[in-house]
Amino acid sequence: MTTIFSAHWLLPITAPPLAKGAVVVNADQILAVGSLAELRAQFPAAPVRDFGEAAILPGFVNVHSHLELTAFRGRLEEPHFQRWIANLIQLKSERLSSDDLLTSARLGCIEAIRAGVTTLGDTADATATLEALIESGLRGVVFQECFGPHVEQADASTQAIERKLYDLHEHIFDVGAQERVRLGVSPHAPYSVSDRLFAKVAELSFEMAIDIAIHTAESQDEVKLLRDGTGAFAESLNRRGIEFTAPGCSTIQYFQQLGVLEAAPLLIHCVTVDDEDIALLKESGARVAHCPKSNAKFGHGIAPLTAMMRAGLEVGLGTDSVASNNTCDLIEEARFCALLHQAAQRDPLLFDPNAMLKMITLDGARVLNLEDKIGSLEVGKQADLVAIDLRRAHNTPHYDPATAIIFSGSAQDVIFTMVAGRVLYEQGQVSSFDEAEVLRAMQVTQEKLVGQ
Ligand SMILES: [Zn+2]
Repeated sequence: MTTIFSAHWLLPITAPPLAKGAVVVNADQILAVGSLAELRAQFPAAPVRDFGEAAILPGFVNVHSHLELTAFRGRLEEPHFQRWIANLIQLKSERLSSDDLLTSARLGCIEAIRAGVTTLGDTADATATLEALIESGLRGVVFQECFGPHVEQADASTQAIERKLYDLHEHIFDVGAQERVRLGVSPHAPYSVSDRLFAKVAELSFEMAIDIAIHTAESQDEVKLLRDGTGAFAESLNRRGIEFTAPGCSTIQYFQQLGVLEAAPLLIHCVTVDDEDIALLKESGARVAHCPKSNAKFGHGIAPLTAMMRAGLEVGLGTDSVASNNTCDLIEEARFCALLHQAAQRDPLLFDPNAMLKMITLDGARVLNLEDKIGSLEVGKQADLVAIDLRRAHNTPHYDPATAIIFSGSAQDVIFTMVAGRVLYEQGQVSSFDEAEVLRAMQVTQEKLVGQ
C-alpha cells in the first residue's frame, strides 16, 4: 500500500528542511519526497497521514549500544572503570539467566523504538540481543563479542566465535531477517583480548566478509597497560596470572601492528587518540563511534572529535549501554556532544543543529556501512522514519526545526517510528512487543540484581 506521510516540517538530511513536506512510502521503500501539495497531485489515491506541527526525519542511528545490559541501568554507579567492568561481568554471569538477558535486550529495543532509534550497532555477548532485535522490527548490526586475554585461548576462542557466527547467520536467514539484521564480530578490548586473538579475529572478519567493532583507546588505564604494562588493567591481569607484554605504543599503533586496522574496523570511543593515531585511522578507513556521555560519566575525557572530523574520518554517535549512560536518547547525546565540544574548544560555531541531526542519521549510517539503504529521506532508500512532536511546552515556540529538536528536544518528543515501512511506534504504543509484559519481566530480573 502506498501512503503519504506529511508534517509541518520534513527534514530529508541530504536536502534542506522542507516546510509542509511529505514522503511517500510504498511497502518498505521511499517512493517520493517533496511538498505535500505536489505529492498529493502525483498520488491522488494514496491516503495522507499528517502529523501536523511536527517534523519527519530519517530514523536515528545509534552506532554503539549494548541492548542486553539494559537491566543494569543505574545498578553500577561505580566510578572506577576497571571495577565497573569486573562487577558487570560478575553480576551478569552469576545472577542473570538467558531469559533475563532476553528481557533486558527487549526492554532496550522498546526504549530505542520510543526514542526514534531505528538502527543500532550493538555489541552483544549473549545471543538474546539478536533474538530481541529480530522480534523488535528494528534494523541493526549485531557485533558478537569475543573475549580471551590468555594467548593460549586464542585458537579455541576464534573457533568458538566462528561457529557461533555461522549458526547465528543461518538463524537470521531462517527467520528471513537478513534485510534488517546483519552480523559483525567484536573482539572486546585490548585489556580483555590477547594480541593473537585480535589478529585471528581480524582474519576471520575478512574470511567471513563481516564488519568488526572494538572498544578502543577508551581510558588512561588502557594507555598505561599498552605503554608500559601498568595501571588498573595491568594489575587485574597480574592478579589473575595472565601474562601481558606491553607493546609500548598507543592502541591504534598496536592495532596497526596486529593487522587489525587492515579490516577498517569500527572503533568505539577513541578518547586517547593523538594526531598520529588519527592519520593511521584515516589511512586504514577505520570508522569511529563517538560516545561523549559515556566517556564523560566515567571521567575518561573528551575524544578529539573535531580533529577526527577534520581528518575526514567517518564518525557516528553512540549512547553506549544504559549501564553507563543511563539512557538511550540520541537527541540528548547530540546536544551533549555539541555543547561539550563547543565549551571545551571555546568555539560557539563548531556545530550547527543540522550537522548534529546529520550525525545521528546519515553519518551513523555511513559508520555502519548502511548509507545505501538508510540515513536520509531519499527515493529508493528504506522507509525508516520518525516523527517528532513540535507542539510541546518545552519546544514552543520554534523558528527552526533542527534547533528545536537538538537544543529543546528529547527522545520523549518522538511520536512515530517506522522501520522498513512497518510502524513500530505510534499513539504511545510499541507494536512489536507487549510492553507491559516486558516491564513485568524486568521486575523479576531486577530483583536478582538487588543487593551486593
Ligand atoms: Zn561499549
